[in-house]
Amino acid sequence: MHIVPIPSRITYYGGNVQHDAQVKKEKITNASLGNEGYIIRASLNGITLSAQTDAGLFYAEKTLEQLRCYSSIPCMVIEDKPRFAYRGFMLDSARHMQTPDEIKKLIDAAALLKFNTMHWHLSDDQGYRIESKKFPLLNIKGSWRESDDFGSMHTGVKYGGYYTHGEISEIVRYCAERHIEVVPEIDLPGHTTAIISAYPYLSCRKEQIPVQTTQGIFDDVLCMGDSRTLEFVYELLDEIVPLFPCERFHIGGDEVKLNRWKECPKCKEKLRSLRTDNFAALQSDFTKKVIEHLKKHGKKVTVWNESLAGGELPEGTTAQMWMDRKKHSIAHANRGGDVIISDFYHYYCDYPYHMTPLKKTYNYDPILKGIKPEAQSRVIGVETPIWTEYICDFDKLCYMFFPRFAAVAEIGWSEKDKLNCRNFERRYKGITPLLQKIGIKSAPASHWNPTPIQRLAGTLGFFKDKVSFEALSNSINSQKN
Ligand SMILES: [Zn+2]
Repeated sequence: MHIVPIPSRITYYGGNVQHDAQVKKEKITNASLGNEGYIIRASLNGITLSAQTDAGLFYAEKTLEQLRCYSSIPCMVIEDKPRFAYRGFMLDSARHMQTPDEIKKLIDAAALLKFNTMHWHLSDDQGYRIESKKFPLLNIKGSWRESDDFGSMHTGVKYGGYYTHGEISEIVRYCAERHIEVVPEIDLPGHTTAIISAYPYLSCRKEQIPVQTTQGIFDDVLCMGDSRTLEFVYELLDEIVPLFPCERFHIGGDEVKLNRWKECPKCKEKLRSLRTDNFAALQSDFTKKVIEHLKKHGKKVTVWNESLAGGELPEGTTAQMWMDRKKHSIAHANRGGDVIISDFYHYYCDYPYHMTPLKKTYNYDPILKGIKPEAQSRVIGVETPIWTEYICDFDKLCYMFFPRFAAVAEIGWSEKDKLNCRNFERRYKGITPLLQKIGIKSAPASHWNPTPIQRLAGTLGFFKDKVSFEALSNSINSQKN
């Protein structure tokens, strides 16, 4: 049967059930199913979906939806539950926005594939995307950039916008109905040009700067020595938190350059008060305070792995590992902290299939070497991000995301010994009509796994046209700090 993600166990009994057979749903007590597992019994008498929870019944329905692609369903029992508790995708709406209707299509696809988290990246150097009633300049200035100058793309056309509180609540509601939690990300204290463009007093130099129109890692970040920075951040978060009822909240923390702090009297004074000469400690101190503040709202905070570079973070902080050369994420897990795996080389879907073929994504085992056996369960799951500097429209987004999106969904849900890429590809083709019905156009199968020659040519072309070598090497160097 073409089911994605592949279920834990299917037992066939012979005979067929008509695909429109009567369906019964029941809540049962069966501890082995956990919070999200389910059982489907398809017999000549009809189809029964059983689970302990509403989420379990929902996933049973999603499997049934896939089975209904067939004219008849074999008599069988499917017993199924996820490998990981956290299964997410990340959408960058800061560089290029998607309409609420487009986002709903992605959410429908995520639900079909049993993802349970949408990580929504809403603030970056190139735009701030949440309506703010407290800080209107965030929208008047920070939500707009003068042009798009990403790689070889130059539009010369003003670009921008933001999601109203009403639109955000509608997305959150749509997700909740599909057992998906929305985790917003406000990236702090780096990737904050859009915020600084609106309120320059938040930076070290206090100078007016424009929202960025290019890709990169920029020098101007929030000033860590000025007490007004935390006051602003607390007030901003207080406004955002009620929009997102999810327990988790993401505060970014990736790719923070230290240049401005090193020349800023206030930041240097702050560093002295921390009794260290490691400038990364400024970020760590700031992050701890923001985590404490969000804790008062009942939030559990996620950070990108660089936030661990300045020292340990409070208990309960989740680290999202994307490129961790110094193994901070492993140390974090060994200390009992949760880790989400979003390995850059395997799970970043904004990179072309030439660089990250489907089978490379699919065959990556999201268990970090070096985590002690007793801490393995600290890897709570996987997430596939898509960054949108070069992705201006929804069809391109779908082309880049699908089928790799589904591959990561399967890695997050299915047992390791069930994983087989060829088998996955066959099953994925089987459910493609359902994705098409949602409005998702996948990349053609001939693009999924390029030959070595195609990969080389495509990779060279990608670097020539698009990615800035400087940005990439900065990114790699920031991991070495
Ligand atoms: Zn400063």
